[in-house]
This record gives sequence, C-alpha cells and structure tokens, in this order.
Amino acid sequence: MCAEYATRPREQIAQILRSERRYLSAAEVFQALQRARARVSLSTVYRTLDRLRAKGEASSRIDEQGEATYVICTTSHHHHAICRVCGHVEEVACDPMERFTEALKAYHGFELDAHAMEFFGRCARCR
Ligand SMILES: [Zn+2]
Ligand SMILES: [Zn+2]
Ligand SMILES: [Zn+2]
Repeated sequence: MCAEYATRPREQIAQILRSERRYLSAAEVFQALQRARARVSLSTVYRTLDRLRAKGEASSRIDEQGEATYVICTTSHHHHAICRVCGHVEEVACDPMERFTEALKAYHGFELDAHAMEFFGRCARCR
C-alpha cells in the first residue's frame, strides 16, 4: 500500500477540522483535502462528517445559506461561542445553565431536560 493512502479518510478529515476550529461545509473540507493531495471523494467526505457527528466527535449546524457545516468537538458537554469575524469556534462550559435550570423550575414549574445554545461575538484575536 502506498504511503499516501495509509492515513484513513476519517483521520484526514478529523485533522482538517482540528486545525481549522471553525464550521466547515463538506465542500470546504473536500477542497482542503485536495490541497493536501488526499484522494478522498466528496461522498466519502459527506459520509465521514455524518459519522463523526453521530459519534459526538463533531457537531453540525445549518449556516445562513442553509448548508450543513461541521466543527470538531470534545466529548464533554459544552457550547459554542462563534466569532463573527473569523468564524473561530470556542468551546465554553455550561455551568451557569444549572442555575438557570433551577430558576426555570422554581419560577415557571418547567422541568428542563434538554437545551441548545450558541453564542456569537468576537474571539480573543478579533476583538
Ligand atoms: Zn463543540
Ligand atoms: Zn475571531
Ligand atoms: Zn449546556
């Protein structure tokens, strides 16, 4: 087997996501693979991104153009602070949410069993 093919597509794709740390579409991942001269088909990129997401190693969001985009994730519970300037994704802890959950129950009698949050602003480099 040629060395060029030794790294599995899954590792190559995860590596691109790890180095970028911003939401990328399948097409953008595909372009990055081509620049790195990796021979991975676009359908493999789609399939691999979906598999990474299913395993909790990546998360996806629909961007303003309605396209699915992906970012690499650690497996512990967290949320994303997304930089409006450069797209950098910072993982942020969810601790304050516990107080909010308690308040929601106390004041509204509503029991929370799931939540989704995204934060937008400027990252440390773009401020
Ligand atoms: Zn994440
Ligand atoms: Zn930024
Ligand atoms: Zn949370």
